[in-house]
Amino acid sequence: RIQGPCAGREERIFVSVRMRPLNEMEIARNEVTDWECINDSTIVYKNSFAAMRSMYPTSYTFDRVFSCDCSTRQVYEEGAKAVALSVVDGINSSVFAYGQTSSGKTYTMTGITEYTMADIFDYILKHKEREFVLKFSSMEIYNESVRDLLAPDASPLRLLDDPERGTVVEKLTEEILRDWNHLKELLSICESQRQIGETFLNESSSRSHQLLRLTIESSAREFLGKDNSNTLTASVNFVDLAGSERASQALSGGSRLKEGSHINRSLLTLGSVIRKLSKGRNGHIPYRDSKLTRILQSSLGGNARTAIICTISPARIYVEQSRNTLLFASCAK
Ligand code: ADP
Ligand code: MG
Repeated sequence: RIQGPCAGREERIFVSVRMRPLNEMEIARNEVTDWECINDSTIVYKNSFAAMRSMYPTSYTFDRVFSCDCSTRQVYEEGAKAVALSVVDGINSSVFAYGQTSSGKTYTMTGITEYTMADIFDYILKHKEREFVLKFSSMEIYNESVRDLLAPDASPLRLLDDPERGTVVEKLTEEILRDWNHLKELLSICESQRQIGETFLNESSSRSHQLLRLTIESSAREFLGKDNSNTLTASVNFVDLAGSERASQALSGGSRLKEGSHINRSLLTLGSVIRKLSKGRNGHIPYRDSKLTRILQSSLGGNARTAIICTISPARIYVEQSRNTLLFASCAK
């Protein structure tokens, strides 16, 4: 059984906020911060002069708040582990990093992915009674076009509706993971593919979503080859989202959702899917409105478990973006 702070919770969306430290450049500019994490779950806006003239709340509470001294290990242990590791019990899950560009999404997600994988390898070693097969795949969604990060120069991938498996990404490369070194090799291929994409498309990393998926199939050895092989299959998805800056007004509920080339459809749709899921599971959930939510449909809602880590920059110049991120995080609760 998975132990941890979000294990066994009723709600399936665990929302946390991580504030990164000021970086050297910001410190050199004498940048200051107006945000303070006053305990494990509350972050406050402490600029009382600005707050007095503002219509926004000054205090925000989530499942967990990570101050700038928290390590990624801690963010993993307390904000993602139980959700991510539910995959070994056959439960689909997704871990998202949401926030403006340069707030720490990739930094956080890279660490969380590696910690999860290390724990999964460890789990497998300790459970010799089952046989495990790990399948790794990774894709990038840019402008509603899906690219395989393990297949160089591949053309955009199509999504197909399979009556049994739901939405399937056609021709997506799935590598059977051998060991830790193989994983590191695959991660570095994805990373370089992503960088190649960036040089072609200006700033693509701030506008594209990277999705890394690990599918685990396991069967009890004593039943192998028999009909009742007691097979479990589930996926865990690590999603490094596009920067929220362009869509943050709409996402934080500040204005109506608008279509437009400058707005990221997958990000907006994910926002409304999460908002609807967090309000209860009844009614229409618009999974089909974007590529990202179609691909993730079986790992969102239903039985699936979700962790969202919202990253913010401490700097005063980003106060509006940070507030939009906190408002989005509040909607996800
Ligand atoms: P994003 O993916 O949201 O655009 P990054 O993860 O690339 O942002 O982070 C921007 C920069 O800040 C990077 O140089 C990264 O190493 C650094 N950074 C982000 N979060 C932290 C943190 N918690 N502690 C130290 N450095 C961080
Ligand atoms: Mg990034």
